[in-house]
Amino acid sequence: MSFNFLSLDYDLLGDYARKEKMKELYSKIDDYFNNSIKYGLSYREGQHNMALSVFEAIESKEHLIIEAGVGIGKSFAYLIPLIYFFEMSGKSFIISTSTIALQEQLEKDINIISNQLNIPVDVVVAKGMSNFICFNRLEEFLSKLKDDNQFIKIFTQNKQDRKDYPGIKDNVWKQINVEKCNYFKCKNHRNCEFYKRRELMKSINGIIICNHDLLIEDLSRKSNYGKELLQKVDYIVCDEAHNLENKVRSFKTNEIKIRNVKIPLRNAINILSEIGNVEYDYLKIEEIIDNLYTQINDNVLMTIEKLKKVNIEVEDCNGLELVFDEQTIKLSNMIKNILKDINDSIQIHSNKNTEEIEDDLNEYSKMFEILSSGQNGNYLFWIERRKRRNYVYCAPKNINTISYDLFFNNNHSFYRLDGKTFIFTSATLSVGKNNFKYFMQNIGADLVQNGLTLEDSYDSPYDYENNAIIYSCKDIESPKNKNKYLKELVQKIKELILITNGKALVLFTSKSDMKYVYEHIGNKIGNINIYIQNDGSSQDTVKRKFKEDINSVLFSTGIFWEGIDIKGKSLSNLIIARLPFPIVDPIMEYKKSLNKNGFAKVYIPEMLIKLKQGVGRLIRSETDKGIVCILDSRMDKYEKRIKETLPIKKIVYSIEDLKSFIKKNKIDEWVMK
Ligand code: SF4
Repeated sequence: MSFNFLSLDYDLLGDYARKEKMKELYSKIDDYFNNSIKYGLSYREGQHNMALSVFEAIESKEHLIIEAGVGIGKSFAYLIPLIYFFEMSGKSFIISTSTIALQEQLEKDINIISNQLNIPVDVVVAKGMSNFICFNRLEEFLSKLKDDNQFIKIFTQNKQDRKDYPGIKDNVWKQINVEKCNYFKCKNHRNCEFYKRRELMKSINGIIICNHDLLIEDLSRKSNYGKELLQKVDYIVCDEAHNLENKVRSFKTNEIKIRNVKIPLRNAINILSEIGNVEYDYLKIEEIIDNLYTQINDNVLMTIEKLKKVNIEVEDCNGLELVFDEQTIKLSNMIKNILKDINDSIQIHSNKNTEEIEDDLNEYSKMFEILSSGQNGNYLFWIERRKRRNYVYCAPKNINTISYDLFFNNNHSFYRLDGKTFIFTSATLSVGKNNFKYFMQNIGADLVQNGLTLEDSYDSPYDYENNAIIYSCKDIESPKNKNKYLKELVQKIKELILITNGKALVLFTSKSDMKYVYEHIGNKIGNINIYIQNDGSSQDTVKRKFKEDINSVLFSTGIFWEGIDIKGKSLSNLIIARLPFPIVDPIMEYKKSLNKNGFAKVYIPEMLIKLKQGVGRLIRSETDKGIVCILDSRMDKYEKRIKETLPIKKIVYSIEDLKSFIKKNKIDEWVMK
């Protein structure tokens, strides 16, 4: 890590000098937002106030939870104070967010601010290895091509980030990206972008922009005294913080692959045999492992059989909780003990470098220990079904205490004694007005005794009262009667698309509903094109088509509930097919079981937060106007809480009232290309 004298000087300041610096910082931030027009920004009170709250977090070193409505400009609200503070103190900082697109947008914002304020600041955008070209793999790929192949020209540009090759297909990229970095044997390492970024992430004097996955992995390594990925900093902003709980959960979720233990096990037994220890019979141990494998498969099949009996489709067994029988627990325990014994013997008797084998055996014995604790332990097990095959996964029950340890518990970390300060922000943290309880519980913030500030939500500056309306459709079948509901859904969606002459984003909660409706409506209604999201991971092309073809319609699910930002007429009609209650899975059920009124305490807040994210797609600028149509008869039951949570308060129940709003605001105008 490079040494930063400015940062050292700042740390050595006395109380008085530090207070003076803070006064200076406050007035710089205040001046910036008072003169925001000079910097090409409209004045937004919420943005100004949010920046001052971030200043207070810097000054007090208290964690901050702050919600900023759509359009506040939250990135500038935290970047301005932190960049001024960087200029003054030399303190680097980390911003973590959810997607590469947001990371790249933040990089652009930082460049704008750096130019406006004339503060030079280095930035590293930390991305996963699969986003970079590995020169060695590229050389191998190109060597197999004919001289006139187009790729030879494309890849001689000396750029290695995937963003510089927008047209490259996934199947080509997979052959040339970084898979495993053999840095010490690599003749190309000096020019390798992936490697340079990895180094910068640990040494930069400036700003690291990473995603939540990388941040969580780094925090986890630091808390276990492992090799860090990101440099230690005093301030970390978690933007899009509503995703953190899920990210911690994914980080802690593992697939149970018991037969993979055979390789390190065989290697370990071979080493022991070479030094004369013939106590372990590999074939016998292998037989126990195979028995356990069969036993777990039997448990899976029995669980699915039970499902079939209550008439649920086998394809829907995704997320189904798996309960292990006594035999599974017994065999797991047996293998765990064998692995521990073998590992001890290797460590005591072998002179070879067996670090890798020891680490592997250690990891596997942890896995068998988890299995042997069964459903009474600290883990939950479930089935996932892909391509007609079943996989078994596990995750710890208490994600909140793990999150607490990662984010708030400084006792075990490498951090300085006064710790790190987190700023958690998003447009969707609260349920109802200023109620952050659910978010706080999920990330363990409710366990923090002191040093945490909860700021009121800063409302969106957009005119929701005049520019947007919700249509709650009461005359539709309950989603519980799936077949009838889907038939009626097709008719309703068609009708609503025609009312606005397209310009609609239809959000589904399941791919099967989306496909059903698409199959029954087709790819056109009159002159209106209907697009559907891709099966693959990249949705850029379909988003672009939907945006440019203004009267078109897009059917979508999953990431589109929060991953689409389209200003203007293209998105004037947001149709929500069902209230987005989460899928019932063992972790949600476990959270529910911890509360007296579990459904209200867990499932409803989850639904409200997701609904708020979805509704946030509609109004993306001061001039945007539009409608939200919710096609779920359960709206009645939850209307009060929905109204408290969403920025749009006006609800109509008849198509006539909806039509008059559409006419008045000219949402139905056909837009010529
Ligand atoms: S340093 Fe690593 S990633 Fe870079 S070219 Fe070499 S092997 Fe590939």
